[in-house]
Amino acid sequence: MEDEAPGAALKPLVFRVDESTPGVVQSVLLERGWDKFDEQCQDVEDWNLYWRSSSFRMAEYVNIKPWQRLNHHPGTTSLTRKDCLAKHLAHMRRLYGESIYEFTPLTFIMPSDYTKFVAKYFKEKQDLGTKPSYWICKPAKLSQGRGIIIFSDIRDLMFKDAYVVQKYICNPLLVGRYKCDLRIYVCVTGFKPLTIYMYQEGLVRFATEKFDLSNLEDYYSHLTNSSINKLGASYEKIKEVVGQGCKWTLSRFFSYLRNWDVDDLLLRRKINHMVILTVLAMAPSVPVANNCFELFGFDILIDDNLKPWLLEVNYSPALSLECSTDVSVKRSLVHDIIELLYLNGLRSEEKKCGRTSQGNAMVSQARRSQQKLCAAPAPPSYASLIQFATCSKRSPAAQHMCPKHTRTSQLREMLCRQNKLLTREAAKSKPRLKAWHSPRKMLSLCASQSLPRKTKGPTGILPEAGNTPNNHAGNFVLIFPFNKATFSASRNGLNVKRIIQELQKLMNK
Ligand code: ADP
Repeated sequence: MEDEAPGAALKPLVFRVDESTPGVVQSVLLERGWDKFDEQCQDVEDWNLYWRSSSFRMAEYVNIKPWQRLNHHPGTTSLTRKDCLAKHLAHMRRLYGESIYEFTPLTFIMPSDYTKFVAKYFKEKQDLGTKPSYWICKPAKLSQGRGIIIFSDIRDLMFKDAYVVQKYICNPLLVGRYKCDLRIYVCVTGFKPLTIYMYQEGLVRFATEKFDLSNLEDYYSHLTNSSINKLGASYEKIKEVVGQGCKWTLSRFFSYLRNWDVDDLLLRRKINHMVILTVLAMAPSVPVANNCFELFGFDILIDDNLKPWLLEVNYSPALSLECSTDVSVKRSLVHDIIELLYLNGLRSEEKKCGRTSQGNAMVSQARRSQQKLCAAPAPPSYASLIQFATCSKRSPAAQHMCPKHTRTSQLREMLCRQNKLLTREAAKSKPRLKAWHSPRKMLSLCASQSLPRKTKGPTGILPEAGNTPNNHAGNFVLIFPFNKATFSASRNGLNVKRIIQELQKLMNK
């Protein structure tokens, strides 16, 4: 930091991509004034964010520098393979009871659970008499609806290794007689301490043929994957209520439900709880690694009793832009992820150097942390959590729980854009500068102009001195920790039992 030349703070942030990185990530970052990493002419460490669809090697996690971030966290695929998810949730059910972990359809892991499945199948057949029972068989590792079979007769079951057989939810909530499921985006900005943000916008994906249990082979009627439905004969047709195509925004879906007098906020809360409980199932087994975040895509089916069911959790959820709904949701999503990272990053720097004349300590800390993995983002202030809990109560404002606030990184990115030419010119005549910025310089930018000021929250509680509220960033809302008890239970190690007790209280309310 001391060897940085004046003006370094105006250097653009640098992102790194590979061939798997979604195009929208690159275009959003360029739009925000970032530079693309060029390994031909830049130092190997001169980047701030590396975003790719596949996971990183352990060496990449270990060698990460304090100014860098990776879009994956080690160990998270244990939630995103269907069989691993089923194992994790079964374990949690054994530890904490069926009643709290009852949000996934009954699942059997094949081939190990085959005998159990057969016993259950025949028991159910006996109980139902002549009525059919419905099951779905899915390859554990595949996605986009590939290799799925829906059946009611066990003789139609076919599987090789690593499949799951699941109870088929045969009473889905239908919109204009079409089945749909929700794609909910969740960003875990850290596992230690556990910090979970939920995106308030999302996608609703529709089947393109009317739901029909008498024809289990019609995938356009039973599967809601857009990769399948965009190829369907009815994709372009204007379908009853749904309209053209096969996607809605989540906000349109919730407003549709409100028109039917559905308590959409209650549904959102149930989904929040489900997400927290699911992430809790894997969090203790995730290795320590800072400066990593993970964007998950939760697939959730709502039944006609308005009960949400977790179908699966996706790693690197699709960010391809296939229709106008994708464009509006996914572009904002990427923008808001960058906001979220910056909010946390800037705060941690403010904490380390701000107000305590520990600027030099921070420098040596940054160096020390280069040896290990680097500093974690500052935990959110408890006061901000209270604010979140309060703003979750139903009110007209609650429908827009996270109005777009000043983008924290906007100022810097604007300066970057303005100074890009200047910096490039200067770079020609000067030795090359590092792509990262002195935290002190960033601090002065954000503290004076960019971060939200201390404000009175809806509860009338002022955020603690030294903490700025980070209960949301763009459309991301902090859902964990959600109160003082869960805040404490997630700081020094993760006290899952205590957290589940708190969740239970909340769910019983
Ligand atoms: P994939 O990873 O292949 O997309 P999913 O588990 O998401 O696999 O299933 C694909 C689609 O199948 C879902 O989007 C949903 O429409 C349907 N589906 C999956 N599991 C069930 C289930 N248990 N009950 C009803 N529909 C299901």
